[in-house]
Parts: sequence; structure tokens; C-alpha cells
Amino acid sequence: MDAMSANDLDCVLDGNAAAGLLQEIFVLEITAAQIQCDACGFAGAVGSLRLYAAPMGAVLRCTHCDGMLVRAVHTPHGRWFEMTGARHLRF
Ligand SMILES: [Zn+2]
Repeated sequence: MDAMSANDLDCVLDGNAAAGLLQEIFVLEITAAQIQCDACGFAGAVGSLRLYAAPMGAVLRCTHCDGMLVRAVHTPHGRWFEMTGARHLRF
């Protein structure tokens, strides 16, 4: 994502100061959000990705290059959400 870099920010606080903004984002309908694949640059709705479901969670893959964009699992140690294959989500 080139829309914003650390140099554009005016001040530095801890992550608690972003609580309001993050809470606004994480209650939105994620399947309608646009996600961009880091490997091939394809952008589309999260709901259009290819789902590989498993008992503990799910893997969502890019419909163009099959890159892994999202992993979400529920383990005895917590809920894990990983997006290392994605550049960004846009709501
Ligand atoms: Zn891709």
C-alpha cells in the first residue's frame, strides 16, 4: 500500500490510540471488502476468493494465482487471523 507511509504521520502514540478507528473497521462486512493479492496484484471482493475450509478454520486463496491471502483458524489458544499474502483490505 503506497497510500500512506510512516513519514506522512504527524505523531506517534501506542496502538490503544487507534482503538476507535480499528473498531470501526473490524465490525464492517468483510466479505464485501476489496482485498489485493500481494503476489499478483489482483483485487477483488473477499467473498469472491476461493475458500478451502478445514475443521479448525479456513484458507482463502486468490482466484487468479492461487496465492494464500487469508488464513483464519480457531484453536484452543485463540482465534488467529493472518493476511500475509494480501497487500490491503479496502472497505
Ligand atoms: Zn494473486
